[in-house]
Amino acid sequence: MQNPFDNALNQIKRANEVKEFPKSLIEGLTHPDRQVRISIPVIMDDGSQKIFEGYRVEHNNKRGPYKGGIRFHQDVDMNELNALAFWMTLKCAVANIPMGGGKGGVTVDPKTLSKAELEKLSRGWVRLMAPLLGPEKDVPAPDVNTNGEIMSWMLDEYEKITGEMSGATFTGKPISNRGSEGREEATSMGGLYVFNSLKESLNLEGQLNVVVQGFGNVGGHAALLFEADGHKIIALSDSRGAITNEEGLDVKAVMEYKKENGSVVGFSNSKEISQTELLTLSCDVLIPSALENQITEENAKDVKARLILELANGPTTPEADDILFAKGIYVVPDILANSGGVTVSTFEWEQNLKNEKWTKEQVLEKLKLKIEKEAVNVLDYSRTNNTDLRRAAFIVAMERLLK
Ligand code: NAD
Repeated sequence: MQNPFDNALNQIKRANEVKEFPKSLIEGLTHPDRQVRISIPVIMDDGSQKIFEGYRVEHNNKRGPYKGGIRFHQDVDMNELNALAFWMTLKCAVANIPMGGGKGGVTVDPKTLSKAELEKLSRGWVRLMAPLLGPEKDVPAPDVNTNGEIMSWMLDEYEKITGEMSGATFTGKPISNRGSEGREEATSMGGLYVFNSLKESLNLEGQLNVVVQGFGNVGGHAALLFEADGHKIIALSDSRGAITNEEGLDVKAVMEYKKENGSVVGFSNSKEISQTELLTLSCDVLIPSALENQITEENAKDVKARLILELANGPTTPEADDILFAKGIYVVPDILANSGGVTVSTFEWEQNLKNEKWTKEQVLEKLKLKIEKEAVNVLDYSRTNNTDLRRAAFIVAMERLLK
């Protein structure tokens, strides 16, 4: 698998070829401010002790506190987190929110842990990272295989250590525990707002066939929201496999089926296909919502979508970008397409700091206004400078970071 941080550095180099930035900015962005590695001891249910590797990368805080999710996955390593933290810095700048970039994680397959072990691991991560964290310093959130419940455990541990009420230290919390209305679906809702504000300019109007890779928080909500917006979801996948139905899948029913059976595979009224086939199905919109490096030099030539909306981080490699561009396939880059999540996380942070509670309508209206403006801004830059949307988004972000 390609090193995602190499891809991220390649992306910045490519943007810099369109508009040259001072070397000091490029070098600064190439080197994360701080990389922390920890060993988290956990007493397992059978009484044995196991040590897990944990990490936090604080990439850049020129525009605000470090901000970024915590990922629990067997493939997590420093390279992946460097890339994800780097993209957070760029994303917060393109979304124009007062946050910097960070990312954390633990190398673990959480499916192998009991709930009690998962809680001990989550609290252990916070015990060792606590000196770095805080509303003005570093504000984590959920990412792959973490959720509101884990944020609640983490916040509880942090408040025990500091002896202070400090809700704004974590975002993506449950609504019942100082979370924000609209946060759970914010990444996908932001993606839909971005898509809707660009579709006319990109000739993608009417009812469209949509394929979604990954059926977790982001992919699940994206499928529901695009379906509710009048589109047909013709294929879905998760880590165990993929399914398709040209007539359209009933997303809610697939969700219920997955809850009971652990996967989308086997859902009635659907045909099983391979995960690789899913990416090259004939469709209008392909929405990667799983992991990095999914659309690569190997399969990009076979992609038949008209537009790729990157709700995952880093799903397309730079080599694939060139192939897709040559084929006339639009790629709405992750740092714009999935910035709704961190935008509403910032709204959550703001509500916690001001001790306010905004309604869902208020949250989504603010998100819509903000993200649509930035989507059009990126499209305009790409058109004026005859470049792709990724380079345009990078340049918009880098101009703000430079200022
Ligand atoms: P999640 O853990 O809720 O879901 C991940 C999904 O991907 C699961 O359904 C899993 O089965 C599936 N998956 C894993 N490997 C796969 C494969 N090879 N093929 C198909 N499916 C596969 O995680 P999430 O929070 O939905 O995050 C998904 C992506 O979105 C990540 O790239 C994450 O960084 C990005 N993202 C998340 C947020 C957020 O708010 N949660 C915000 C911005 C970006």
